[in-house]
Amino acid sequence: MRNNLYILKVAIPVPVYRLFDYLPPLDLDPKTLKPGIRLTVPFGKGQKTAFLIGIDSNSEILSAKLKRIEAVLDERPLLSDRDLSLLHWAARYYHHPLGEVFSAAFPVALRQGKPATIKAEKFYVLTEKGRLLNPEQLRRAPKQQQLLYQLQTQRDAVPASHLNAIIENWRPAAKALQDKQLLRLEGVAVNATTHLILNPQLHPNSLQQEAIEQVVSALSRFEVFLLEGVTGSGKTEVYMQVIRSVLERGLQVLVLLPEITLTPQLEQRFRLRFAVPITISHSKLTDIQRQQAWLGMQRGDYAIMLGTRSALFTPLARPGLIILDEEHDASFKQQEGFRFSARDVAVVRGKLLNVPVLLGTATPSLESVYNVEQGRYRLLHLTERAGNAAPPKMLLLDIRNKRMQEGLSEPLIAEMHKTLAKNEQVLLFLNRRGFAPTLICHGCGWVARCRRCEANMVVHYDEALLRCHHCGSEQRLLPQCPECETGQLTPLGLGTERVEKALAQLFPGRSVIRLDRDTTQRKGVLEDALERINRGDVDIILGTQMLAKGHHFPNVTLVVMLDVDSGLFSIDFHASEKLAQMIVQVSGRAGRAEKPGRVILQTRKPEHPLLTILIKDGYGRFARSALAERRLAELPPYSFQALLRVEATDSAVPLQFFEQLMQAVEPNRTVRMLGPVPAPMSRRAGRYRYQLLLQSATRPELHRFLDKLMPLIAGLKLTRKVRWSLDVDPVDL
Ligand code: ADP
Ligand code: ZN
Ligand code: ZN
Repeated sequence: MRNNLYILKVAIPVPVYRLFDYLPPLDLDPKTLKPGIRLTVPFGKGQKTAFLIGIDSNSEILSAKLKRIEAVLDERPLLSDRDLSLLHWAARYYHHPLGEVFSAAFPVALRQGKPATIKAEKFYVLTEKGRLLNPEQLRRAPKQQQLLYQLQTQRDAVPASHLNAIIENWRPAAKALQDKQLLRLEGVAVNATTHLILNPQLHPNSLQQEAIEQVVSALSRFEVFLLEGVTGSGKTEVYMQVIRSVLERGLQVLVLLPEITLTPQLEQRFRLRFAVPITISHSKLTDIQRQQAWLGMQRGDYAIMLGTRSALFTPLARPGLIILDEEHDASFKQQEGFRFSARDVAVVRGKLLNVPVLLGTATPSLESVYNVEQGRYRLLHLTERAGNAAPPKMLLLDIRNKRMQEGLSEPLIAEMHKTLAKNEQVLLFLNRRGFAPTLICHGCGWVARCRRCEANMVVHYDEALLRCHHCGSEQRLLPQCPECETGQLTPLGLGTERVEKALAQLFPGRSVIRLDRDTTQRKGVLEDALERINRGDVDIILGTQMLAKGHHFPNVTLVVMLDVDSGLFSIDFHASEKLAQMIVQVSGRAGRAEKPGRVILQTRKPEHPLLTILIKDGYGRFARSALAERRLAELPPYSFQALLRVEATDSAVPLQFFEQLMQAVEPNRTVRMLGPVPAPMSRRAGRYRYQLLLQSATRPELHRFLDKLMPLIAGLKLTRKVRWSLDVDPVDL
């Protein structure tokens, strides 16, 4: 081998656990190629965007057979060395192919090899005349007046994206102001912002003050804080005041939110508070928008990013702080492909970047409570609601033997009438969409089943459809039983669509709005609905868990959970934690302003310890007692798990796969293998599913075991005939 041979070690986003070797381009000095840059490489019959990992002088492949890369896409890596080590760590920890981990860190457009260039945003600036004009003079054009006022208070150049968030339909007004020569459009920001705050901060109460001071005093180092504050306790205000201190140091802030909370309301709160450039990143944006946001943070153009799970890896030119709001939320765990926990990776990222990480929630995950007990996280506790709002009163309504009308008990209906009579709003929560979860024949007992899944079809009356909520297959809703051809088909159980129809009958003249995935699919529908609710155009709000978080409905004083019992009897040990969080989060929607709120939970199990502890002693006590149970049962966080899932269209193949694997595995006393067993849904979308749970008392032992397991899986013949995945720290068993 010649020693001037340069071999590029490259990660390619394919499900393969190794790097690929390529030759450098002829027209570039290989020594100038830095790890982390994107490359275009020939792969199979096509080409792929790949990531340079390193340069070596050896290859196992004869150099004559090596292919040459086609293009170098970046002059410099877009990620810092620390972020590159984060990706290497994540690939090792989650036992996931490095190329796919790298790919996940980039926005789609860059993954596809698009150039990392940024389109300059347009900025609005007032002319001299515009700065001096008294907004009162625009009295007859309220939009123009509002816009002028906003721009005057802002003083600096304002990007168009900012106006989108604070003034609806502002473009015609901007045009009018331009025509009057009050306003100008410029290509670049005239000057960096010198002042940070637009609207004054609230005066923090003493608990908020304490929390703010603790985080601010840690701003130049790594530490993890758990901000546990009841809903409405002013956590967002704490974030914003801490952020201000970060901005004063010229640093950037990454704020991660669950997909569902990323409402315009929160974005607006940030935009109204801060005069700095803010950007957002979530799945509803276009690829271009997300790329712009990502590159803008990378270049340091933006000071704050609000984003969802996938924004976690956004590079920061001047990292200052990572905030994760609603840290307990399930949407922070990616459930397919690269199955990472954004919370756990955020903590590691904070450590590598040497910045604090602030986790906030009303209902901390048991892992975080445990980490506080272990001294790894510092607890900041907000025990009271901020401002004047009182905590909502929770009440268990025993519905055994009560008359029910489509899931609503008579005492509940009476309470609702009372609330509505006071011109206050009621929020009904039912975590099941569709009309009814089951369709059964009254004559012969036939049940509508999905042909491809081990599941019942859900009745969707409005669309006259039966739909499987697991694979999406649909069938026409037939008038007659396909089995006995005479029996009457009866929908069993409750979904939001059914309750909506019942509400129209029970509360004639009251306006009802239903918010679930079926009604809010179209863009803008949810936003409109939220606005109608806040204007008071809606009396009864009915919805699924998309209502549970983040929203602030000042006139809702009664919150109802129609059915808590279905959550009490799950086989997954995470279920009770999730149910308790859901109850508390939903309750938090009650009485968020001056009027006190009440929460009614309908149940047939009013003596169930989960409910009684939660209601009498609160979530904190529930969490500690649930942790004690986990300790006794040796469940996480007192042990460590990984779940190997395997599925195939042929029902025998998954078990054969596991059999072969078990023969190859060396027995290990420290890692328990539970299974293989059929997955909770044993067939989905036509595939038979099995799983093997691996559990160990220590993390290093589990990971050493996985290190050996991965090559064994890769070596099995049957591996090519199955779909398989490994989930480290699974939350869905
Ligand atoms: P959380 O994020 O904990 O749910 P928010 O930060 O949204 O709470 O605060 C809830 C409400 O209380 C908001 O309307 C907010 O403006 C108000 N609030 C927060 N802190 C204060 C304070 N120190 N004084 C007065 N009102 C406050
Ligand atoms: Zn029948
Ligand atoms: Zn199905």
